[in-house]
Amino acid sequence: MSQPIVECVPNFSEGRDPAKIRLITDAIAAVPGVRLLDVDPGPDTHRTVVTFVGAPEPVLEAAFRAVRTASQVLDMSVHHGAHPRMGATDVCPFVPVAGVTMDDCAELARRLGERVGRELELPVYLYEHAASRPERRNLAAVRKGEYEGLADKLKDPQWAPDYGPARFNARAGALITGAREFLIAYNVTLNSRDKAHATDIAFSLRERGRVARRGQTSAFYSSGRELRYAEGCFPCGSCALDAPTFEALEAHCQEVHGYDLSRLLRLNEIDAAQGVVGQKAYMPGLFPHCKAIGWYVDSYKRAQLSINLTNYRVTSMEAVLEAARRMAAERGLVVTGSEIVGLVPFQALAAAGRFYLRQQGKSPFVPVPDLLETAVFSMGLADVAPFDLEKKVLGLPARPARALAAMTCADLADEVSRATPAPGGGSIAALAGAMGAALASMVANLAQGRTRSPQEEDTLLEAAEQGQRLKDQLLQAVDQDADAFNAYLEARRLPQGSAEERAARQASMQEGLKLAVAVPWATAQACFEVIRAADRAMASGNPASITDALVGAQMGFAGLRGGIWNVLINLKDIDDPAFTDDLAARCARLLTEARALLEGAVAYGDGKLAVMLDRKLGKETP
Ligand SMILES: [Zn+2]
Repeated sequence: MSQPIVECVPNFSEGRDPAKIRLITDAIAAVPGVRLLDVDPGPDTHRTVVTFVGAPEPVLEAAFRAVRTASQVLDMSVHHGAHPRMGATDVCPFVPVAGVTMDDCAELARRLGERVGRELELPVYLYEHAASRPERRNLAAVRKGEYEGLADKLKDPQWAPDYGPARFNARAGALITGAREFLIAYNVTLNSRDKAHATDIAFSLRERGRVARRGQTSAFYSSGRELRYAEGCFPCGSCALDAPTFEALEAHCQEVHGYDLSRLLRLNEIDAAQGVVGQKAYMPGLFPHCKAIGWYVDSYKRAQLSINLTNYRVTSMEAVLEAARRMAAERGLVVTGSEIVGLVPFQALAAAGRFYLRQQGKSPFVPVPDLLETAVFSMGLADVAPFDLEKKVLGLPARPARALAAMTCADLADEVSRATPAPGGGSIAALAGAMGAALASMVANLAQGRTRSPQEEDTLLEAAEQGQRLKDQLLQAVDQDADAFNAYLEARRLPQGSAEERAARQASMQEGLKLAVAVPWATAQACFEVIRAADRAMASGNPASITDALVGAQMGFAGLRGGIWNVLINLKDIDDPAFTDDLAARCARLLTEARALLEGAVAYGDGKLAVMLDRKLGKETP
C-alpha cells in the first residue's frame, strides 16, 4: 500500500570544512529517488550527521556513494574531535520507516558492507540489528578503541571485520553499518519558564532514572535530600527500605520493584563490581528506550522536557506524554502541548491517533486524515510551532495527484462516459468495492460501544479496520487500473517494421497484459474481503444499519465480478498457459465462494427486514 521508505543516517568525520561536506552530500543527492532531508555539521565534535530517505535500492546506492566519497576526501590520520569515531564514514545505520522491516534494513547494511569491503577494500563491522554476533550489537562496543586503536583491533581474531580486509587503512579507517529503529526527537512543553520544573519530570521518565532522594518538602522530587550508599546501609531508591548489604538491596529491587539495580547503575556510569559505598543511590525511570532532560527554549519562552525515543514501538510518544501530563499535574504544572523535532514515521503518529480515539470510546479505525487530526489535537502538536503533516510525517499515505479518486462523483461519471477506453469497468469495479468497504466500516463504527458482548465488539473493530484498509487499497486501484491498461495500449503502439521490433512489441504487450491482469485480480480479492467485512458488520451491527451493510455487500460483489471479468478478458491474449490456467481456476474458486457469502448475507438481511415489516403489520412470526 504505502511506498517502501528507508531512512539512512550516516555520520561523517568532518564537521568544519563545508566544501568537503558538500562533496559528500552532493554524491547522495545525485542518486534519483533519494531525498536529502538534513545536514547537521558539528564543529566541536568535528562530525556531520546526514539524513536522507527513499526507496531501499536508491538509498543503498546513495549510502555507498557517500561512503566512497568520504573515503576519498577525508583523512582520518589528521582527524581529532570530541565524539568517538572509527572511520571517515563512522557509522551508517539503515532505519525502517514504512513498508519495510528491520530485517530488510539489516540486509541493506550487509549489502553495503559487502560492497564497501570488496570495492573500496575497507574493513566493515555490522552492529545492532545487523550484527553478526551478540557482542557486536552495541555500537559503543564495536567502536571501542576508536580510530587510534583500529590497527591493533584488526589484528585480534575476535574482531575480524565482517566484510573487507583485516588491514588498517590509515586514511578512511573502518565503516560501521547496521540497522536500528527510528529515533523520534519529541519535546513536551510546560506552562513554565523554569528549567528545573521540566528536569524534575524528565528524570522520572527516562530509562536511566535519577539520583534517589527522600524527605521531599514539596511535590517536586528534587526537593528531597540525596541518598548515598554507605557501609551497612544501602537505601532503596524506590521505597523506604535500607538494606544491610548491596547484594540484599539488589535482590530486593529485583523481587519487589522488578528491575536490575546493577544495570541501572551501569546506565549511570557506576560499576557495581567496583563497590558502590560512597556512591549516590539511584531510582529507575518509567520508560525503556527513553532519554530525557529538561531545558528552557528562549524562542518559546517555555521550559520543555527534551526527549529522545529510540524505539517508539516499545515506548510511544503518547505513553510518555500521558505520564508527563500526570506528573505535571501532581506538581501543579500544566502540559500545554508537545513538539516533534524533525520527522516522524506515519505509523508512530497513527498509533497515537488510535490511542486517543480509544480513550474517547471511539473506533480507532477511521479515515487517515481524521486519525492524524486526532493525534495532532490530542498531543497539542501545534502548540509552540505549526505542525504541517506533509512536511513532518514520513510515509504519509499519498492521495494520487492526477487521481480519478480525487474527482467529484459528477466529474468521474463524465470522464467514464467519454469515448476513451480508460477509465472503464476495471476502475469502476474498484470504486464499487471501495464504496462497499466504506459502508462496512460505517456500519461497524456506528455500532461501536453498543454491542451485547466483548466478542461482538472485537468483530466490529475488525470489520472497521478491514473496511478502512480495503477502502484505501481499492481507491488506489481505481487509478492503478486505468494506468495498467494504458501500459498495454502504449505497447500496442510500438513500431512493428522489423522482425526485431515486432518481437519487442509482442514482449511489451505480454508484459502489459500481465500487469493489466494483476490489478483487477487484486481488486477481486480485496472485494471478497469487502463482502465478508460487510457481512460481519451487519451481523453485529445495529438493525437500522442492515440495509447499509447489504448495499456494501452487493457493491463488494459487483467489484469482485468486475475484477474477475477484467482478468478473464485479458487472459485470452496471454501466451503462457500455465499462468492463464492457474489464474482462471483461482477466479472460478473465488467467484463460487463469493456467491455463497453474498447469498448468506442477503438471506440474513432479508430475513431481518421481513421480521421488521411483519412487526409493523402486526403479524406474528414463527
Ligand atoms: Zn524498595
